[in-house]
Amino acid sequence: MHVLIVGGGLGGLGLAQSLRKQGISFEIFERDENADSRFQGWAIGLHTIINDLQKAFPSDVGDLKAATDHLQPLDLPAQIGLYFPGMEGRLGVEDTPEAPIVRAERRRLRDWLATNIPIQWGKRVQRIVDNDEEVSVYFEDGTSAKGDILVGADGIKSVVRTHLLQRPSEELLKLVPLSAVVGEVTLSGEEFKRQLALGHSAYIFASPNLGFFNFGGLHYVLPDGVSGRHYWMYMEPDPEVAKPDHWLQTASQQEKLDYVVKKVSAMPPKFQEIFKLTPASGIKKEPHVWRDLELTSLPTGRVILVGDAAHAMTPFRGEGGYHTLIDVLKLSKVVGQLDAKDIGAIKAAVAEYNTEMLARGSEAVRSSRNVQKPQKTSDGKMKLISANQEARPLPEEEIKLERVPEVAITA
Ligand SMILES: Cc1cc2nc3c(=O)[nH]c(=O)nc-3n(C[C@H](O)[C@H](O)[C@H](O)COP(=O)(O)OP(=O)(O)OC[C@H]3O[C@@H](n4cnc5c(N)ncnc54)[C@H](O)[C@@H]3O)c2cc1C
Repeated sequence: MHVLIVGGGLGGLGLAQSLRKQGISFEIFERDENADSRFQGWAIGLHTIINDLQKAFPSDVGDLKAATDHLQPLDLPAQIGLYFPGMEGRLGVEDTPEAPIVRAERRRLRDWLATNIPIQWGKRVQRIVDNDEEVSVYFEDGTSAKGDILVGADGIKSVVRTHLLQRPSEELLKLVPLSAVVGEVTLSGEEFKRQLALGHSAYIFASPNLGFFNFGGLHYVLPDGVSGRHYWMYMEPDPEVAKPDHWLQTASQQEKLDYVVKKVSAMPPKFQEIFKLTPASGIKKEPHVWRDLELTSLPTGRVILVGDAAHAMTPFRGEGGYHTLIDVLKLSKVVGQLDAKDIGAIKAAVAEYNTEMLARGSEAVRSSRNVQKPQKTSDGKMKLISANQEARPLPEEEIKLERVPEVAITA
């Protein structure tokens, strides 16, 4: 069995590690020129599958938390605060020995997943040809590769999906009617402590009555131990967001910031602080239009999808990467049992994988559209779920920080 993997993101690299552990031959192709070509994102929460991942990967990748925890060097558990109308006090979820959560800094996570994986950089897929005997992939640089199975882990605008379904992304991706302004800021000392107190790793403040919600997140703690890089996403319902003349298409960074600061003035002061401390230069220039993808079926054969290529979703519930890694864990088990020559068995196994993956993925796509609405349980209670845990009251905290000495940082 020789597996061709298209895409060196979470899904592609996760699959590569699982195949390496099983001694299955693979090649992995990534369109970026190198690991620094593109910003990898801020942070991502991993939870119920941590042990499964560690077991499925070779031991030389090391410990996930030690390699990726965005709260290092602080000794604080990953924690997500949830502030919703009608819910008194601070609710949230937290990393505990019984229910571990690792909030992984995205670049560190990619580096961890890439441990000892020979990524072929600068390989942008252009064309795929497959039949019952084999599959070939052709790259923009004129080279090509042949294998028994090809896995499309090439993200939301997947060319592998376009090949499989013969339909372009523009036809398949669905607009999520929300506009967003995104900001980044570095905070130190007391300001940093106050953000950590709202939720060590992140927090969501939702207020449908005010007409918006905010996700505030820690990207990473700086090596000095008393400063952190933060990001926030201010979002409001907006069916017009994709229109070419939408104001966010041309607004300056200062105009976007002014708009948000005015809107959030109705929030309690502690939630306004992050916006007020963000400089205009910290506002993302490019407008953001969220799209997601719900597929009901996929053809079965030697070409298979994982992750966003099959079920792209909004990041509001923090589940896209999580489901991508579940796909990978499930698919790697299937591939490990296949005979490369038996196309009948391959089709049957892929059909079974697709059915489970699409049902689970689509469910997550739908619930991810609705993060701003707590769910009502059958007994009429409001329920908030994050990191697969039901939110519980979290005590108010006083965060204590200690500056890491310069010598310790350089060592
Ligand atoms: C702002 C934001 C925050 C998020 N936060 C969370 C979170 O907290 N928790 C969570 O679980 N999920 C989160 N997600 C979702 C998560 O990032 C995705 O679900 C996950 O990255 C999907 O992994 P993937 O491997 O399918 O795709 P990607 O990670 O997008 O990787 C695809 C790779 O394929 C490569 N590629 C694309 N086209 C080609 C081509 N033609 N040829 C070769 N290579 C190609 C790309 O360069 C890329 O490296 C977030 C997403 C966003 C946008």
